[in-house]
Amino acid sequence: MTRPGGTWQNWARTEKVRPQVVEYPTTVEAVRRSVRSAAARGRAVKAVGAGHSFTGIAAAPGTLLDLTELSGLISVDRERRRVRLLAGTRLHRIPALLAPYALAMPNLGDIDRQSIAGAISTGTHGTGLRFGGISAQVVGATLVTADGDLLTVDDDHEPDLLPAVAVGLGALGILVDVTLQCVPSFGLHARERPEDFDTVLDDLDARMHESDHFEFYWFPHTDVALTKTNTRLSADAPIGPLSPAARLIDERIIGNGVHQLVCSAGRAAPPLIPAINRLSARVWGDREFSDASHRVFATSRSVRFREMEYAVPVEELAAAVREVRDIADSRGWRIEFPIEVRVAAADDRWLSTAYGRESGYIAVHRYWRADDRSYFDAVEEVLRARGGRPHWGKLHTLDAGELRARYPRFDDFLALRERLDPARMFRNPYLDRVLGA
Ligand SMILES: Cc1cc2nc3c(=O)[nH]c(=O)nc-3n(C[C@H](O)[C@H](O)[C@H](O)COP(=O)(O)OP(=O)(O)OC[C@H]3O[C@@H](n4cnc5c(N)ncnc54)[C@H](O)[C@@H]3O)c2cc1C
Repeated sequence: MTRPGGTWQNWARTEKVRPQVVEYPTTVEAVRRSVRSAAARGRAVKAVGAGHSFTGIAAAPGTLLDLTELSGLISVDRERRRVRLLAGTRLHRIPALLAPYALAMPNLGDIDRQSIAGAISTGTHGTGLRFGGISAQVVGATLVTADGDLLTVDDDHEPDLLPAVAVGLGALGILVDVTLQCVPSFGLHARERPEDFDTVLDDLDARMHESDHFEFYWFPHTDVALTKTNTRLSADAPIGPLSPAARLIDERIIGNGVHQLVCSAGRAAPPLIPAINRLSARVWGDREFSDASHRVFATSRSVRFREMEYAVPVEELAAAVREVRDIADSRGWRIEFPIEVRVAAADDRWLSTAYGRESGYIAVHRYWRADDRSYFDAVEEVLRARGGRPHWGKLHTLDAGELRARYPRFDDFLALRERLDPARMFRNPYLDRVLGA
């Protein structure tokens, strides 16, 4: 978000920059003018979404384009169930836009505050071994390129570029619209409960394969995993949603309010953290309900944290989680945030963390005021050794040299960047590190 005085900072408060210029284009033409004007002055230009990336991927020291107002539905192809959205549209607005057409996005991540362009640009994903991340839903996009021209990529225009543009890291141009492949609207039955951590790990393969959307949170220094198993329901199946009061208690008071207290107490008295984690794991989730898909997938997160997440080949997942557990428990740290474990189908997006392989995700978090470095470094070493690929929007230390070996189409992406942005109009320090200058 951009604050008075022109300073932009991200949600996690890990990045702060004072752009030379901030612009708020509300039309595609205005985006083209902004890009041309920045080019004429030799200034780098970058679009930001909701600023929910933990890395500096969205930092814009030159011209910052805030596309919040470039939002809404452009068109719907009812027959093919495809919707074209302006790039700044926030995910939480999409369900209402799709409701008149009885359509839904097939899968979502944990929250829905991101913009559609920001979410796809970093490879944002949810969970489910038969489902890809949000970028896997992209069937078309329009970019403003470095010379201010429009580049349309879809089935009929440069279709070969779609797998690159769908996870473009903001490096190929400014997205002005995105077309998504939707599905008929559906419900989800949610079952959330605390279970024995070792039992969950022993059974992980079956749970991943047999559930539509399985994930779990392990609370460090405990033997408790909070499992979440979501089962898809047809749109007309009866649903039993949480009452507004129950949702308020679960998410705002227990999920966020109690967790804020835990984090504050943990900072004041770190030795209490294991006991607090045991309590949290028991009270946080033991519930069953069903509701429209978007209301089950997305939750609210008001306790600020920092996060690192890696994708490993799914066959490595259980062993990797065990290794991370041993590290978290054995080094004397007191970790107040759970570790989140998810899965996703293989996809064909060149820079997707799930490119070409079914993937298991391990995400580690720390309260934003806590020191994350030694914990994240140790976990990163384990996940790198298992062929892990870091989430582009979450903290990691890899550079282009190391990333090239992890992405078979890395050099193809760089060649496309060279073609579309030879002068590096869309660069920033993070992209210099992960893609090269
Ligand atoms: C509380 C929280 C929960 C999260 N949960 C998940 C989760 O469940 N799963 C997951 O995978 N990730 C998750 N994330 C990470 C988040 O989804 C990604 O970092 C995502 O990119 C943020 O979207 P944004 O709109 O904030 O984009 P920003 O962070 O603002 O930008 C991200 C990138 O997109 C580019 N970009 C934005 N708009 C455009 C445009 N119009 N054209 C070209 N490039 C553009 C930016 O330049 C930048 O490179 C979470 C983050 C937070 C803070």
